Amino acid sequence: MSDNFIIEDFPMSEIEFEKRYNTEQACIDYLAKMKWPDGFCCRNCGHRAYWFSSKHLFICTRCESAHSLTAGTVMHGTKKPLTFWFKAMWWFTTRKSGVNAINLKELLGLGSYQTAWAWLHKLRRCTIRQGRESLSGNVEVDEFVLGGQKPGKRGRGANGKTIVLAAVEKDGHKFGRIRLQVVPDFSGDILEQFVSTNITPGSTVATDGWKGYNFASENYIHCKTIASKTDDKSSVLPGVHRIASLVKRLILGTFQGRFSPEHLQSYMDEYVFRFNRRTSRNIGKKFMRIAQQVTSSTKVIYKQIVGGASQFCLLAN
Ligand SMILES: [Zn+2]
Repeated sequence: MSDNFIIEDFPMSEIEFEKRYNTEQACIDYLAKMKWPDGFCCRNCGHRAYWFSSKHLFICTRCESAHSLTAGTVMHGTKKPLTFWFKAMWWFTTRKSGVNAINLKELLGLGSYQTAWAWLHKLRRCTIRQGRESLSGNVEVDEFVLGGQKPGKRGRGANGKTIVLAAVEKDGHKFGRIRLQVVPDFSGDILEQFVSTNITPGSTVATDGWKGYNFASENYIHCKTIASKTDDKSSVLPGVHRIASLVKRLILGTFQGRFSPEHLQSYMDEYVFRFNRRTSRNIGKKFMRIAQQVTSSTKVIYKQIVGGASQFCLLAN
């Protein structure tokens, strides 16, 4: 991932985190630095000088337009101190499997489970960086299904199952970065869009023999492996198979096998965020990424997050 365009300023340990972000002002200063790496710049007139109002607004000294660090972002309208959000971001990014809503509610003393749940969904929306670099090199692509009992026909819709497309960079036996996307079916159009969005042209793309992948011969080096009926599918595309089993373990462990298809993409985004940074040596770097992305995020209201949340699927083990 290219970090050239952004400053690297993050706490190196939990102790440093606790020391640095224990006041509203410290949190404001850090978010401002993330939002304006080169210093304040008025979105209205481009002026660089401001004064700071008692309502925590940056007011341009030339045109007097007000800039908020939270308005219009996922923190829009929050009544909680930024120090709470910082702690939530820290736990979300630095705990190995993240933090769940029950824990977050207790850790922050939030009034309701719903608030904690909504905060986590908001932070998940900040895990995907716009313009992130595509996968490259040798990439395995395949789909796996979650939920549902009976095997369905490919390319014909989900038959009650949720389909996830996976792309995995492979370097020998080693894994690089991954991408996961929940899709309605495995038709050629959907596969093509997934591959072209996530994989750099010219890369080697390994797939099985499904005709929906035929487009890949145009812009990629397409390695198609046609499995015989007796082949174990895991031996054909072992990288994707491994990721699929990790994702299933996550759903069985963290969510007791219950998941709502409407929210699955946001869990996949969080998983990808964690997986792609699994070897990062700096504990605070993931925290910095989320803080950066929070400042450039767009607001989301509770109703938008809840969506069709009443529908749950059960993942059979
Ligand atoms: Zn201005």
